[in-house]
Amino acid sequence: MDKQVSFLDQLFDQGILHDSGVDGLYARSDLFEEVITRFEALAKSFGKDETSEAMVFPPGMPIKDFETSGYMKNFPHLAGTVHAFCGNDHDHAGLLQCLEVGEDWSENQKPTDVALTPAACYPLYPILARRGALPAEGAYVALQSYCFRHEPSRDPARMQMFRQREFVRAGSADQAIAFRETWKQRGQDIMKLLELPCTVDVANDPFFGRAGKMMGSSQREQELKFELLVPVNSAANPTACMSFNYHMDNFGKAWDIRQQDGSHAHTACVGFGLERIALALFRHHGMDVESWPAGVRKALWG
Ligand code: ATP
Ligand code: ZN
Repeated sequence: MDKQVSFLDQLFDQGILHDSGVDGLYARSDLFEEVITRFEALAKSFGKDETSEAMVFPPGMPIKDFETSGYMKNFPHLAGTVHAFCGNDHDHAGLLQCLEVGEDWSENQKPTDVALTPAACYPLYPILARRGALPAEGAYVALQSYCFRHEPSRDPARMQMFRQREFVRAGSADQAIAFRETWKQRGQDIMKLLELPCTVDVANDPFFGRAGKMMGSSQREQELKFELLVPVNSAANPTACMSFNYHMDNFGKAWDIRQQDGSHAHTACVGFGLERIALALFRHHGMDVESWPAGVRKALWG
């Protein structure tokens, strides 16, 4: 039997996730949400003396900023944009008629100025840029967002709508690189507390514009992106549950984020895939959280 399907079915059977009929779009149980909330508290406790502020974003971002991110250059097939009905009464009657007979009703659905957020840190950069030059100590922001990626799958670890908790650093190259190295270690420390097996590896999927000639191979050579992998569905193909990214000054240039000396800011982010981490816990420690190992329960519930 397909292992991935069986894990998903197990999650449905246990009422941890609920099927919607669309792959990758699930309702979460209270228990699943509680595990995520507890994990977020644990992750935040690691950065609490360093973060200068915290934000939670809605699942959509301004389409202009989405364009600036370069996401459409790299991942057009994953992106989602919000459309709304923009017709007149006559068009509305036509829409109702199409619905009635089960035909395509989207003719007058037009793009709005909102895109679904593909990566949790994207809405932050334009906010930082609008404030003017960064202070000397840079910015250090804790944030969370729902994200959308059009990648329907029966692998429960590959959802279409999921949350990322991130810490983002903007400032000098040294500040960004030091932050990324610190979190690479912290990510492994957190997984040790959660008693989850993990490996860290360089990743080669490009995270900014092909137009910038920043293709996967050179990214790999420059070690810009690392992933922390945990077996969730299969031991042979572990799943990226965290990523540790150094963007150099690409986002600083794209959104015009400046340092005190006028040069473009360097940025780095660490992203925790919240659903993936919760799934890894259920996969390794069982569906009954009461019987999770004492150390894991202590790390999450105190
Ligand atoms: P993958 O290679 O598995 O598609 P990614 O490299 O595209 O992941 P990032 O863009 O680095 O992922 O996103 C940060 C984190 O968000 C990932 O490490 C992962 O934990 C989580 N994530 C990414 N895509 C999904 C998804 N479809 N469903 C659930 N979590 C996801
Ligand atoms: Zn990020």
